[in-house]
Amino acid sequence: MNGIKLGVIGAMELEVEALRAALVGARSTQRASMTFYEGALRGLPCVVVRCGIGKVNAALCVQLLRDLFGVTHVLNTGVAGSLSAQLDIGDIVVSSDAAYHDVDVTALGYPAGQMPGMPAVFPADADLIARAQAACAAVAADVHAQVGRVVSGDQFVAQGARKDVLAREFGGLCTEMEGAAVAHAASVNGLPFVILRAISDKADDSAHMDYPTFERAAAARCAAIVEEMAARMA
Ligand code: SAH
Repeated sequence: MNGIKLGVIGAMELEVEALRAALVGARSTQRASMTFYEGALRGLPCVVVRCGIGKVNAALCVQLLRDLFGVTHVLNTGVAGSLSAQLDIGDIVVSSDAAYHDVDVTALGYPAGQMPGMPAVFPADADLIARAQAACAAVAADVHAQVGRVVSGDQFVAQGARKDVLAREFGGLCTEMEGAAVAHAASVNGLPFVILRAISDKADDSAHMDYPTFERAAAARCAAIVEEMAARMA
């Protein structure tokens, strides 16, 4: 025991089901329409929870993980749309940091994406980034994993023009709908976090076809990496 208690958040059932099944001695608690499962994941004290889709659910979930369960670290696992020609379906993104792409207070002089009073980007924890990279190498050595920015908003991005803006103006490597809210909530609570995402689609005009085809396999790959991370942190 090294004092770590990891909160593992996935937005959807298929992102957390394998992790929940792997939990030993799990006890469940219900709050805010979420069921929190507390137990040991490969020997590491963990709380696994499906938060639901979108930023508000994600932020609520982090606060509950902190206040009800006293987690010391937060990990967000799941699927995402690629914003880079170098990242294909099934590849992995480990967050260097996270930012919103749907916050716009530019009329008052703030950069696109920045909420007044908050940093423009939320840096992920260096140690968790390194651990995520090591776990990727161990369980998916054949899979391309890259560290970079996760950009989030309450939008499913499925258009080439919007994808280009997220890559160019926001510097995003992938886009999804929870990561920046997890990052924001973890940061204001002083909790180290990392976001780990497997690519399910390319966030362009093919995304509405690719996403339903690849979400399950991508989510399962990500969960396998999380399990390996937990084993190495125990
Ligand atoms: N299958 C769900 C809807 C999923 S919304 C349903 O019909 O109920 C997409 C989810 O996958 C979000 O949790 C988001 O974080 C992630 N995601 C994957 N690709 C994305 C993209 N191109 N744009 C935004 N979010 C994406």
